[in-house]
Amino acid sequence: MKTAITYTSLINGRWIESESNETIEISSPYKEELVGRVQAMTKNEVDEAIRSAKVAQRNWARVPAHKRASLLHEWASELERRAEQIGRVIMLEVGKGLADGVKEVIRTAEIIRYTAEEGLRFAGGMMQGDSFPGGSANKLAVIKKVPLGVVLAISPFNYPVNLAAAKLAPALMTGNAVVFKPATQGSISGTLMIEALVEAGLPKGLVNLVTGRGSVIGDYLTTHPGIDMITFTGGTSTGQHLSRRSAMVPLVLELGGKDPALVLEDADMELAADQIVSGAFSYSGQRCTAIKRVFVLENQADELIALVKARVEKLSVGSPEENSVIVPLIDKKSADFVEGLITDARDKGAKVIHGGTREGNLIAPTLLDDVTTEMRVAWEEPFGPVLPIIRVKSVDEMVDLANESEYGLQASVFTRDIDAAFRIADALETGSVQINGRTERGPDHFPFIGVKSSGLGVQGVGRSLESMTRDKLTVLNLQ
Ligand code: NAP
Repeated sequence: MKTAITYTSLINGRWIESESNETIEISSPYKEELVGRVQAMTKNEVDEAIRSAKVAQRNWARVPAHKRASLLHEWASELERRAEQIGRVIMLEVGKGLADGVKEVIRTAEIIRYTAEEGLRFAGGMMQGDSFPGGSANKLAVIKKVPLGVVLAISPFNYPVNLAAAKLAPALMTGNAVVFKPATQGSISGTLMIEALVEAGLPKGLVNLVTGRGSVIGDYLTTHPGIDMITFTGGTSTGQHLSRRSAMVPLVLELGGKDPALVLEDADMELAADQIVSGAFSYSGQRCTAIKRVFVLENQADELIALVKARVEKLSVGSPEENSVIVPLIDKKSADFVEGLITDARDKGAKVIHGGTREGNLIAPTLLDDVTTEMRVAWEEPFGPVLPIIRVKSVDEMVDLANESEYGLQASVFTRDIDAAFRIADALETGSVQINGRTERGPDHFPFIGVKSSGLGVQGVGRSLESMTRDKLTVLNLQ
């Protein structure tokens, strides 16, 4: 048997073993195999990470933008060179299909390049005083975009490279330093991504990699006075906890979702079924923007369910190594949670149209009919392969139920009536609405927004550059 690698952490340009002398074992979610070990870092090391980031940031902010962009392009090239290797580790570590793991790395390189390009054209502006009543044209305001300082980037397990780099790249491009805390299950992929950045020429101390359990060092990091901004993607309860504790620090939070699909009377039913199934089940539904409930009119429900069922039956179930769509969930706790939602729905009268079974952490793709608002699965985010169908009497009822959710990430509306689509889109309390398409993030330069319990602030390349800078005003008073 291969010996598992013990990965080190990056602090002030050096790869170190933690002074804690402790490591965390990262096991594969789909086979009994140790993928590797990461350092369990101490508060003292967090202090050092933040201190060195502060020093490095002062120099980095003075580096010309085109040179900052060059570092990002080099990083993207390194990731492209290592796409197979890192993609494989993503597969082993978070159980994502191999092809999707490799695709994630390539997509990440594309985001980084786009961020570098967009960052070159990202600038402040100028204002003249005389456009305000009583103001004078002799007053000129020069508005610069300046970095915030040290950005704390915390990422989740499900896109361990993509969602991390989507934070690091805009932070670096705008002259910030970064302290990066990857999800523990995902931290080996994150470490390899940082190795590529070091290889690309990362200046000492500019990015520091802090590994360790969020439950142990998370609060210390997020309340640290040396942190100037927090960008977080993860579960709603973690995000809410974090936002209650951090004070006077700009926050961008991307949290959970319960994205609905609303299927209207005139919808193209085949298209809706295709999009719903791929939206709900890819990577076993472990996506924040997975479709997590379907609203359909009573008189069309049988037709839609037959179409959805036929597609669910064809989903490949098994191992990420075979690129199966349905793969074991990230851990036992998650599988227990999803099983609990299915049991609750079944006990309260939901019909299991397909699936409903479990083998270890592998939950069969599960389609539930006759789901009612009394069932937990109507409201809670499974982060697993479970799709509840909720039969309703009217489109108004669909919108009301969609909005009753605590979440507000995305929604899909299926209809051929463009006026109705826009009317409903306006009424839905979500960050985005997809018309005739599945809910999804991207393309990555689009704004990505969660409202209500789904988040705070906006991501997407351009908006991330904005959120990691502030305006600095210098006013020239011409005599
Ligand atoms: P999670 O358990 O909330 O973990 C997210 C990150 O927070 C991890 O790095 C975790 O570290 C860290 N953390 C834990 N406790 C912390 C604390 N007290 N202070 C600071 N950080 C702490 O989420 P997950 O299970 O990895 O990801 C799944 C969730 O993320 C789902 O709800 C999903 O919807 C959401 N998500 C949202 C988006 C979006 O864009 N809206 C995208 C992807 C995922 P450890 O791993 O060490 O615990």
